[in-house]
Amino acid sequence: MSNEIEKVKCLIIGSGPAGYTAAIYAARANMNPVLYQGTQPGGQLTTTNEVENFPGYPDGVTGPEMMVQLQSQAQRFGTDVRDGWATKVDFSSEPHKVWINETTEIHADTVIISTGAAAKYLGLPSEQHYLNTGGGVSACAVCDGFFYRNQEVVIVGAGDSACEEAHYLSKLCKKVTMLVRTDKFRASKIMAERVMNTANIEVLLNTSTVEVLGDGQVVTSIKVKNTATNVEHEIPATGFFVAIGHKPNTDIFADYLTLDETGYIVNVPGTSKTNVPGVFVGGDAADHVYRQAITAAGTGCMAALDAERYLASKD
Ligand SMILES: Cc1cc2nc3c(=O)[nH]c(=O)nc-3n(C[C@H](O)[C@H](O)[C@H](O)COP(=O)(O)OP(=O)(O)OC[C@H]3O[C@@H](n4cnc5c(N)ncnc54)[C@H](O)[C@@H]3O)c2cc1C
Repeated sequence: MSNEIEKVKCLIIGSGPAGYTAAIYAARANMNPVLYQGTQPGGQLTTTNEVENFPGYPDGVTGPEMMVQLQSQAQRFGTDVRDGWATKVDFSSEPHKVWINETTEIHADTVIISTGAAAKYLGLPSEQHYLNTGGGVSACAVCDGFFYRNQEVVIVGAGDSACEEAHYLSKLCKKVTMLVRTDKFRASKIMAERVMNTANIEVLLNTSTVEVLGDGQVVTSIKVKNTATNVEHEIPATGFFVAIGHKPNTDIFADYLTLDETGYIVNVPGTSKTNVPGVFVGGDAADHVYRQAITAAGTGCMAALDAERYLASKD
């Protein structure tokens, strides 16, 4: 399968805030990190125009701009940033083996996984259109809720995260309409009750999204359908939040690492350590709770420090 074998001290898989922060720390600790960017160089933030909550940018910054800066900061200290996708791993013995693009075989003393996660969307063409224009579709209430202060928004989802996001939005927005496709929540009773008891959240059960409507640039309303009666109607809204879950990019690690039921990597609490010595995780690949750039950066830092201490313990 492989044409070449390369030995590295520290291999970082993924180029989001977690990967680049790990790279900055690993490079400054003389670990000569090699970082593979994957198919989304810069990670999820490259899909957003406005990042207002990352410390150090008082006027905000675009996601792509911020990620270019993180990359050059990592390169400034000698990180070898490469184009490539990890296609297979073998963590059964040391050194750990990772295959890139199914050809290059890397033998790594330490591996930092920062492969992130992807938000799930409904897949409607109109939803994707307004996601791409940046005109009102979001999968992150904490990231984007602030832009909809005192406005009316719609959120779709029925689980605990959806309830949490709806509740978060209710503190900022004039009205939140929550669409639940079936006749009940999937969320825990306590979370569902919290939503039901919030005055400015209206829950519509048996309701699916038909189309996101707007003027071509920004969202103006959501067309929904009652799945019991097939009656359609429009809900005025400037924001459409999709809270139907995330898919962590961790499939290739499943044979070696402990994953939870959704596929998130399970780390030793309070550390970046996985169940395999020498393999560490940072960012959204292990985080179903916070899912923010700053927390990804923080846990990326932890992964590099844990990797450095692991190497030191072997000297
Ligand atoms: C539209 C949008 C707006 C957002 N806005 C904000 C915001 O304003 N503020 C905020 O704090 N957070 C925001 N977030 C959340 C934030 O982007 C994420 O929490 C953060 O990017 C997670 O960082 P990460 O490094 O864990 O992974 P990601 O950013 O998900 O990056 C994962 C990286 O791994 C790579 N990869 C995956 N699999 C492989 C593989 N097999 N081999 C090699 N590479 C691989 C990908 O190419 C990518 O580079 C937003 C998210 C989205 C989607």
